[in-house]
Amino acid sequence: MHLNNLITKALNDVRLTDDEIVYLLSLPPTSSENYQVLAASRALSARLCANRAEVHGQFALNLAPCPKNCMFCSFAAKNGIFKGSSQISPDDAVQTALAFERNGVNAIYLMATASFDLAEFCEYGKEVRRRLHPETILIANVGDQQESGARLLKDAGFNGVYHALRLREGTDSDIAPDARLRSIRAFKEAGLVVGTCVEPVGPEHSNQELAELILFTAAHQPAFSGAARRISIPGTTLAERGMISELRMAQIVAITRLAVPHTVIGNCTHEPCGIGALAGANLFWAESGANPRDVLEKTEEGRGHTVAHCSAIFNEADWQLLEGPSAFFS
Ligand code: SF4
Repeated sequence: MHLNNLITKALNDVRLTDDEIVYLLSLPPTSSENYQVLAASRALSARLCANRAEVHGQFALNLAPCPKNCMFCSFAAKNGIFKGSSQISPDDAVQTALAFERNGVNAIYLMATASFDLAEFCEYGKEVRRRLHPETILIANVGDQQESGARLLKDAGFNGVYHALRLREGTDSDIAPDARLRSIRAFKEAGLVVGTCVEPVGPEHSNQELAELILFTAAHQPAFSGAARRISIPGTTLAERGMISELRMAQIVAITRLAVPHTVIGNCTHEPCGIGALAGANLFWAESGANPRDVLEKTEEGRGHTVAHCSAIFNEADWQLLEGPSAFFS
């Protein structure tokens, strides 16, 4: 396979095959060939969004041990990180959302653990929606839903959802992969725009597994795709498998950009980092409150990044920042 041909294909919006994606994923992260891939992705990503990166803000409504037991998540009951349950007040949710809006995020995400009551989630959503500028993009990050749940979210004023089929879904989580697929279909049918990602990548995932998930995200015409590495939760089984480097994550971010149709202009990575921005990530998340990658109840005191920090990382990689509502969800 000739690397230049694959890059030319991708830049011309011709789909890469499974074998071609595996080949790109097989390049050593520190090789000059991989740096060519990063550069091509950065150029394509900038072209598709007029070099305007976005920072979205996410916060959790609740904190609770979650029975879905995704092994990579600090909320998973079996990980035993958080023992009790709590939730913020509707007014705290409004104030947190308003603070993100004041700080210039391009979209605001409300998150809850999978067992949080959806009707209650929607009540929070309605109140937040009522207090935000009408044009502010509001996104839900919730557990799997059927058609009725998807419509509730839409009626509550959400513009879209974040939802992903995670790597080794059903093996490293207690969620059947089909449930994730059905949810994505239901969200789209209800008129919600879906953002997704190749996540959470660990060192044990093969290039074939990654390629299949990259192609899965490409097939769903999401608001954004991208890639995120698994963050080790200390003391858990998955922590023993280790973490990939930011450079390897950036390689997967770049290849995802090259493999996804040009109609998808967003390319995320998490957690925010300079190498990711260099490699063509144009979406980072700022976070506050509980966070599934953190063991602190307030991630702003731990792993969470502020809006200003996310913006600064983008600026250091010569990105400009979009002002106003997300172009990815428009
Ligand atoms: S990722 Fe979501 S569904 Fe899985 S354990 Fe964490 S909160 Fe529950």
